[in-house]
Amino acid sequence: MSGDAGAAAADRPRLRYAPSPTGDPHVGNIRTALWSWLHARRHGGAFIVRIEDTDQARAVPGAEERILESLRWLGIDWDEGPGIEGPHAPYVQSQRLPLYGEAVDRLLAAGSAYRCFDTPEQLAAIREERRARGAFGYDGRCRAIAPAEAEARAAAGEPFVVRLRMPDDGSTAFHDAIRGEIRVENATLDDFVILKSDGFPTYHLAHVVDDHAMRITHVTRGDEWIPSTPRHVRLIEALGWEPPTYVHTPVILGPDGGKLSKRHGARSVLEYADEGYLPEALLNFLAITGWALDDHTEILSREELARHFDIGELVPNPAVFDTQKLEWMNGVYLRQLDASRLADLFEARLARDLLREAQRPLDRALVEAIVPLVRERVKLLAELAPMVDFLFTGDIAPPEQEALLGKPYRGRAAEAQHALNACYAALDPIERWTAEPIEVALRATAEELGERAGSLFMLCRVAVTGRAVTPPLFETMELVGRERTLARLRSAEQTLRY
Ligand code: GLU
Repeated sequence: MSGDAGAAAADRPRLRYAPSPTGDPHVGNIRTALWSWLHARRHGGAFIVRIEDTDQARAVPGAEERILESLRWLGIDWDEGPGIEGPHAPYVQSQRLPLYGEAVDRLLAAGSAYRCFDTPEQLAAIREERRARGAFGYDGRCRAIAPAEAEARAAAGEPFVVRLRMPDDGSTAFHDAIRGEIRVENATLDDFVILKSDGFPTYHLAHVVDDHAMRITHVTRGDEWIPSTPRHVRLIEALGWEPPTYVHTPVILGPDGGKLSKRHGARSVLEYADEGYLPEALLNFLAITGWALDDHTEILSREELARHFDIGELVPNPAVFDTQKLEWMNGVYLRQLDASRLADLFEARLARDLLREAQRPLDRALVEAIVPLVRERVKLLAELAPMVDFLFTGDIAPPEQEALLGKPYRGRAAEAQHALNACYAALDPIERWTAEPIEVALRATAEELGERAGSLFMLCRVAVTGRAVTPPLFETMELVGRERTLARLRSAEQTLRY
């Protein structure tokens, strides 16, 4: 690399997403990953995924794969990380233990950290006693153990943790890109654990070591980590390194201003995928929940976002999760898709959602014929099957009388029966079974009967589909097919009692 190219590369931001494999990632967590990715893309930097699995007790089997699947589904690609590897591999913390061990040795040798042999019972008693005095955390009593003695006790097999020695007075400050300077009194920081008794590093140590090793420029994470950051800054200083830029992203609130609830957004990305949201819609929605290009643009493609988003524009106040906006946006993206991609999505969705006893094969031609009829009507793919399931069944259960009569024919069962018979008679002779002649025949029937066309059409709709809301009637009848349409008109008519 020439000097200039090297300098340019060195200036490029490197951001990471560092999930713990403790469950499926929720939208707030993924939004931070998305913002980091967008910032990296915007500035020609790198986006790195690192799995933080040092808390073995909390690890959930399969979680890592689902986290990566969530990113892939959204189209968030990583330049270094699991499956891709890269110059700082491995990207899974449990495979990097020697690195943390080296850092601990260095801190112990320098006297910045010390071993501690308190048993859990002793620790509980210390906490209790300090709480009674209005103090908190650990009191630092193991600082008094001479290093040689500590080393000997450790060598003899006595369990221990390693704690970082905090300054007793003064204050610790760090700069947060969203909130500016944050400063805390050192008296509020206790000597925290960096190496656990099982030999695994704590999150605090492991991420600091890795962010340094991986040359991370911006540490982006949820603002619940702000209280821990002064500790991280002290640890970085003790290791002789420079702190990264911190970007603590605000939470996403529910519509009522409270915590996000399961009903409003607090779901995993894969649950959204399951409900039939499009990845491009969820991606757009999350990107602008808490960030805006200007005061009016809402629909932004992945490429546009990657051209405009900048982490430096984030604000500290939390955004509200607007479910209606997400649904609307999903509809916008669905309508933008070309017919063949829509047919692909519909086919996959229907294959999953339709009852197994669907007697009509899910043939591509039928799916393609549905696309123009429903594309303006569905906001979510999950709405599709209930809208068109009657097309795929050999027969439908004849509708209940009340549903069949609906408002237009309430209390007029005899007229309804007469009308259904008239429709049957008008449709029966049609040879070229397409929407047009069907419409002509039914309009003429309405006129002959002296019925409002809308009333008659609703009656036919319920008789033929079992539903009051469907794609446009004549096209629907065309797709249901001649024989089925006539049979359903007949059986509906026969159920009427008066
Ligand atoms: N492993 C931490 C978590 O999943 C990451 C925090 C960070 O990004 O520093 O919450």
